[in-house]
Amino acid sequence: MLLTEPKFESPLQGSRQQLAKVIDIMGLGQSMYNRLAHPDRIVTVHSPVRMDDGSIRVFAGYRVQHNNALGPYKGGLRFHHHAEMDEFTALAMLMTWKCALVGLPFGGAKGGITVDPRELSVGELERLTRRFTSDLIPIIDPKKDIPAPDVNTGPREMAWIMDTFSVNKGYAVPGIVTGKPICVGGSLGRSEATGRGVTIILEETLRHFGKKISGTKVAIQGFGNVGGVTANLLYQMGAKVVAVSDWRGGIANPEGLNIADVMLHYKEHATLGNYQHAEQVSNADLLIMPCDVLIPAALESVITPENADRIKAEIIIEAANAPTTPAGEAILEKRGITVVPDILANAGGVVVSYFEWVQGMSQLFWSEEEVNDRLRRILTRSFAQVAQKVEREQLSFRMAAYSVGVGAVAEATRVRGLYP
Ligand code: GLU
Repeated sequence: MLLTEPKFESPLQGSRQQLAKVIDIMGLGQSMYNRLAHPDRIVTVHSPVRMDDGSIRVFAGYRVQHNNALGPYKGGLRFHHHAEMDEFTALAMLMTWKCALVGLPFGGAKGGITVDPRELSVGELERLTRRFTSDLIPIIDPKKDIPAPDVNTGPREMAWIMDTFSVNKGYAVPGIVTGKPICVGGSLGRSEATGRGVTIILEETLRHFGKKISGTKVAIQGFGNVGGVTANLLYQMGAKVVAVSDWRGGIANPEGLNIADVMLHYKEHATLGNYQHAEQVSNADLLIMPCDVLIPAALESVITPENADRIKAEIIIEAANAPTTPAGEAILEKRGITVVPDILANAGGVVVSYFEWVQGMSQLFWSEEEVNDRLRRILTRSFAQVAQKVEREQLSFRMAAYSVGVGAVAEATRVRGLYP
């Protein structure tokens, strides 16, 4: 190992540990580790916002640009009260490997604001998003750095970002952000893309082990844009979705939930609480309940040494970014549980972001079938590439995916050289 193992695993320590491991496996050396373990640039802003009561609050916001060896920095913006710089740095690194793994001409970035958006009115949230965008203008651009949705952000926020940037330029700039509403240059299929990608990767994983989706028992932590879409698609494909949850807690039924009915309930009440036709389950218990496949689709660091020895699933598909800590994963690996890593499992979102960017830059729009077909082709090809490495080189799925992603970035870094 290049690094001594840290006692406490923050997401950044975890990401660096995983990078060190793959650098060792591939024999890329300490100098390459030094270049890839650190982001190119971290920008911190303090965005003042007039609140509804007339007072002014100042919010801390960040954009971490990790690496652009393969193309413009790319990655989401999250609004979360626990989000801070090290976490954004870890997530930006993951974006670099993810884009490289699936062959996109993008680097990696991540950013956002330390805020609980539920505490703000829509007007306050809009003013905050627009001011934050203005503060980032020196470093974002369709050819430099292209933000996208992440936790607690979606098409509405992306439209505000596109508008703020465009008003400053004096013309519409659709390529500045992806995940926009369709009417301002968004792509068909983008809002479902991450969840659809998760189901494609699950299908491929099951096929790899000679299994089928139909009848497979799946527990999903999260019911947002990723967890909700994944649950719905898997339900339509005949899987038994035995549990889903939101940040307050979850619902479970060992025989499978009626997800169509759960979706209706969620649309009406904006919560899974008080849903009558299922048992209540906590987010912690959901992770260790009996199922074949576990899909963490919420936040990072939820699978740790605290619960890894009690997980019942045989397969974990990481729909969230960094849901498993390296120490948690070491236990899963010993127990023979397959973990399909985030950079492969949730890459569908950024793949269709790439399609959206290409469509926006070329002013030529594709049908939803075309988007979904191209998405499937890219993800099945990437899965096959990773699975082949798993077989041939006896690697875990994570290390196989990392060796493709990190390998591509390292090669580009090497041939581009160092300037000045
Ligand atoms: N936030 C998503 C991710 O973590 C999407 C990023 C993007 O589309 O740029 O992959």
